[in-house]
Amino acid sequence: MLRVHKYGGTSVGDLERIENVAARVAKAKETGDDIVVVVSAMSGETNKLVGYAEHFTSNPAKKEMDMLLSSGERVTAALLSIALQSKGFDAVAMTGRQAGIVTDSSHTYARIESIDPSAMQAAIKEGKVVVVAGFQGTNKDGSVTTLGRGGSDLSAVALAGALDADQCEIYSDVDGIYTTDPRIEPKAKKLDTISYDEMLELSSLGAKVLQNRSVELAKKLGVKLYAKSSFSDNKGTLITEESGNMEEVLVSGVVLDKNQARVTLRGVSDRPGIAAEIFTMLANENINVDMIIQNKSTDGLTNLGFTVPQSEHENAKKVVAEFDHDIQGMDFDQHVCKVSIVGVGMKSHSGVAAQAFTVMAEEAINIQMISTSEIKVSMVIDESQGEQAIRALHAAYNLDK
Ligand code: ADP
Ligand code: ASP
Ligand code: MG
Repeated sequence: MLRVHKYGGTSVGDLERIENVAARVAKAKETGDDIVVVVSAMSGETNKLVGYAEHFTSNPAKKEMDMLLSSGERVTAALLSIALQSKGFDAVAMTGRQAGIVTDSSHTYARIESIDPSAMQAAIKEGKVVVVAGFQGTNKDGSVTTLGRGGSDLSAVALAGALDADQCEIYSDVDGIYTTDPRIEPKAKKLDTISYDEMLELSSLGAKVLQNRSVELAKKLGVKLYAKSSFSDNKGTLITEESGNMEEVLVSGVVLDKNQARVTLRGVSDRPGIAAEIFTMLANENINVDMIIQNKSTDGLTNLGFTVPQSEHENAKKVVAEFDHDIQGMDFDQHVCKVSIVGVGMKSHSGVAAQAFTVMAEEAINIQMISTSEIKVSMVIDESQGEQAIRALHAAYNLDK
């Protein structure tokens, strides 16, 4: 069997933990399986490197950032390989490029275009454990690129796909996917399985346990994906195709996203094209707009609200300021968060959203914005009430049972 293991930052956070990972990999290898390991940078390392660059400028060149940030994963890959060799295992460390990963040139958020697995396959054939530095590839000119924060998950899934691996196991400090972040609600329950679509919503809505692009790719390639703990031998969660009985569960998880800021534009002249102009300009600045709300206009004026990631809040302010002549008033709030409920059962049941709004009312939490899809309901509320909302929703949908 060919298995891809991925170990995140906490799992390789210091030398002792790298030693622990080496022991786990060695044990897996000893069963006779072929193992390819993808590693993250040691925890805190990527943020530290970002901080170094920001010492000089708030807007460093993205190409240089990729050169800088990709180094963290290389350190861990080399160290894990050395640790395995010291245990008598034949191991080889590879950069993204050596593993054959070619991406486009969108520095700091590159997309994988192709993978040539031949170098990895040759090493596997020689009985080696292949240890790949996650989060990176190179573009066609040979410049190093990175895959967006949390991108080592994506490296692992993509390599599992290219190698036609039997399974891809993502190891972190939690032993699977829970009904909500166990750090917020200790009563959260571990799920044995979850559908790709639900997991994709949870990740996209802020559950960082798996990077959303990795889940999307796993679904596309049909990669058998597990979330497991590097500190225990528990079974973990299988992320897989939706099956019949999954729809019996109304809500499978609730998520809190604190990385949200709200922009409200009041008295916007309601002429055709105004929304296109504002949102095109935001897109040109690479500002990711999430929820958007516009009201029916009165007297030719309307109100327009949307949310952006907190880090892009200042840039969004600058962009909308350019529309001064079209807008009567602007209002910005960095102290908001988004709470969401996710479940494939919503497709076939009514009243799920109404119940969520009732929970908010009972908790005296004011809902500022709402958006829904077939399998989720999201609400923007005050940041100070985010964790309270998560716990109340978790209880209301019996997720602790
Ligand atoms: P790594 O550094 O290994 O990539 P992450 O920190 O990215 O790990 O992801 C693991 C963390 O995700 C956990 O410590 C947990 O607090 C958080 N998390 C958020 N939502 C969930 C959830 N629904 N189930 C499990 N963990 C979750
Ligand atoms: N080290 C990178 C990050 O912190 C990638 C990863 O850990 O997956 O975002
Ligand atoms: Mg992660």
